Amino acid sequence: MSGQERHVVVVGAGPAGLAAARAAADAGARVTVLDAADVLGGQYWRHLPDERPAGREHLLHHKWDTYRALSDALRAHPAVTVVPTAQVWSLEQVSSPGLVSSSGRRDGVRLNVLVGEPDAAGRAARTFEPDALVLATGAHDRTLPFPGWQLPGVYSAGAAQALAKGERVAVGRRVVVAGAGPFLLPVASSLLRTGATVLGVHEASRTGSLARGWLDRPWELAGAVGKAGELAGYVGELVRHRVPWRPGEAVVAAHGDGQVEAVTVARLDARWAPVPGTERQVEADAVAVSHGFTPRLELAIAAGCALTASRFVIVDDTQATSVPGVWAAGEITGIGGADAALAEGAVAGAAAAGGDLGAGAAPRAIRSRDRARGFAARIEAAHGIRGGWVRWLRDDTVVCRCEETTYGRVREVVELTGSHETRSVKLTSRAGLGPCQARMCGRTLQDLLDDGGTGVDRRPIVVPVRLGDLAATPTSSTHTASQPQET
Ligand SMILES: Cc1cc2nc3c(=O)[nH]c(=O)nc-3n(C[C@H](O)[C@H](O)[C@H](O)COP(=O)(O)OP(=O)(O)OC[C@H]3O[C@@H](n4cnc5c(N)ncnc54)[C@H](O)[C@@H]3O)c2cc1C
Repeated sequence: MSGQERHVVVVGAGPAGLAAARAAADAGARVTVLDAADVLGGQYWRHLPDERPAGREHLLHHKWDTYRALSDALRAHPAVTVVPTAQVWSLEQVSSPGLVSSSGRRDGVRLNVLVGEPDAAGRAARTFEPDALVLATGAHDRTLPFPGWQLPGVYSAGAAQALAKGERVAVGRRVVVAGAGPFLLPVASSLLRTGATVLGVHEASRTGSLARGWLDRPWELAGAVGKAGELAGYVGELVRHRVPWRPGEAVVAAHGDGQVEAVTVARLDARWAPVPGTERQVEADAVAVSHGFTPRLELAIAAGCALTASRFVIVDDTQATSVPGVWAAGEITGIGGADAALAEGAVAGAAAAGGDLGAGAAPRAIRSRDRARGFAARIEAAHGIRGGWVRWLRDDTVVCRCEETTYGRVREVVELTGSHETRSVKLTSRAGLGPCQARMCGRTLQDLLDDGGTGVDRRPIVVPVRLGDLAATPTSSTHTASQPQET
């Protein structure tokens, strides 16, 4: 099939999805971009909606010019349709008799989509059966539980960031930022720009791990000059505002009567276990906390894509997944930042369109992608979660906030049933069965149980859907069950 005939659907309009759509259109495909958000840009370029734009948006975002160039090019391209507020709520594997292939069958995927404001009644139901699919669904941030984390005033750093960047709202007046990873720095910066006082940035990894992750083979970082500049900008901002950055520390409890009034900060050992006697209380009305990212895998799992042991989508050099016709790019293939997402998207889009990866912009994108993969490995080495964090839990610490399941209850269920299997423990303890469907607690539960399975992530319906919308969706004639494979 030539690029002219191919219909490529890209799910996700973050850096990876936008780059993929542009590359696919440049390679001659007809492209549809679907994103649940009402504005393009994903998590990295989260901004005010077009109808109430910020005066100087470019000051608030890195690579804003890249965003403008990509989004303008897509909007102007006659072969590209961009559909915002398009929630892909399920993916089915379908067999379509009579379509191209020597066997007379073509296995493909069918996307069920609702278009319209989230939660609004009467959203338009649409379905797509593309020739090629690029999944660029990104990640959400992961927060490890601690006593008091269910109090109002505790935010995931991503939520604090989204409110600051997307709405210009600060989550509090005196905010503590904590967790792990370079992401804490832009969060602190965004909070400062909304007028909040940031009392400190507490990075769980100790200086030794940070040095091992970031300073090993420094010559390989030469390609990440842009990232170094970005980092220097954040550090300068923290210094100007006298915000202390403290490695080897964590918020291990939040306190307050109906609202956060203070947090306990403790020093951690190399395994992230609190060092006894180092706890101190800090008065604050909000805490923004994240310990890295979890890829949004629902659609990839539904498609049957193979995952790595650390639960990212496995892709080859062309960003093709293990499922024919499905490519993946960005944070669902590894946490490497926006530069990696842009490069992977460009490669995936060109490949999905059947373009020549040896020509045009593709070879450059491949080189950037390969450099950026090293960056992802460094983030994991420097900031990856260490098992000692479990030591800051108490039996009454809530693990699943939707169902209010405590750590003690999870331990009790394990003792009673003798099972360490996530699926079994969640059915008995109810952890992971609430409205968020284990998005917040799924990985935590698996880590607590030491269960490497994929059970909690398998969600045939990606987001809650009204029964009326379900009824309005046309059913497919044939579809096959999907099983994620792990290697
Ligand atoms: C909350 C958060 C805030 C971040 N803030 C920063 C920051 O300030 N600075 C920084 O350097 N890095 C930040 N990062 C990291 C950075 O955003 C990523 O490196 C980069 O955005 C990854 O790009 P991506 O295209 O893979 O995914 P994303 O940018 O996450 O884009 C994924 C897109 O897919 C869409 N999507 C997902 N599932 C569906 C579905 N089923 N149907 C329809 N659409 C769907 C989402 O709406 C989203 O727009 C942040 C990450 C997160 C999670």
